[in-house]
Amino acid sequence: MNRITIAIDGFSSCGKSTLARQLAQHLGYAYIDSGAMYRAVALYVMENGLVKDGRLDLDGLLGQLDGIDIRFQHDPMTDKSATLLNGRNVESEIRTMDVSNHVTLVSPVPEVRAKLVRLQQALGLEKGVVMDGRDIGTVVFPDAEVKLFMTARPEVRAQRRYHELQMKGAAVSLAEVEANIRQRDLDDTTRKADPLTKAPDAVVIDNSDITAEEQFRKALDIVVDVLARVGQE
Ligand code: C5P
Repeated sequence: MNRITIAIDGFSSCGKSTLARQLAQHLGYAYIDSGAMYRAVALYVMENGLVKDGRLDLDGLLGQLDGIDIRFQHDPMTDKSATLLNGRNVESEIRTMDVSNHVTLVSPVPEVRAKLVRLQQALGLEKGVVMDGRDIGTVVFPDAEVKLFMTARPEVRAQRRYHELQMKGAAVSLAEVEANIRQRDLDDTTRKADPLTKAPDAVVIDNSDITAEEQFRKALDIVVDVLARVGQE
């Protein structure tokens, strides 16, 4: 069977990773969370004194960029892929609100994007991959056979993310979560380098009023159609 590339883009906290994981598991494909890479760079600048008064020390980051190693490794404890930053498992640290609040300091930096896009393209070289992010269908894999663009109303996204953080025991307010989501939407759609935008050939899925299961079925129908077409080529 021909293996394809599935690109999932969209706004913050609208269930991209849930859908990407479900599809990857169903198809026996690899799931790659490109946002984890940007989050790992954000954690690096936070831990290495490269953020002063909320501002990024750009020269400092550029000077150290070659020394930032980001990769994924299967974690037998969780049976999921974990993000490694210079060999250290940072999977839970990169999910904090503090990192969410710093990530758009580093994601607009063209040199950071160039490095991570190269890595992402290398990971998808053999196809059979589902990758989620902001520029996967537009920049990383413009030739992806399936492109999905996900969205949901900001207040619905905030409520879901707040619930997730609460389950992890994080002390955050709903207002703080919603403010972060709205800020990242704005930062991600207005930056100069590879802004979040729908690829012309992407299918939009608005999941404000549908369940994760309904969303999965919708996406799977699209994938099955494409697989049938690709199989005939
Ligand atoms: O997907 P997630 O919310 O974890 O992504 C965190 C941040 O990383 C986004 O808000 C965005 O600034 C950045 N990002 C990006 N390009 C990607 C994936 C994520 O700029 N492909």
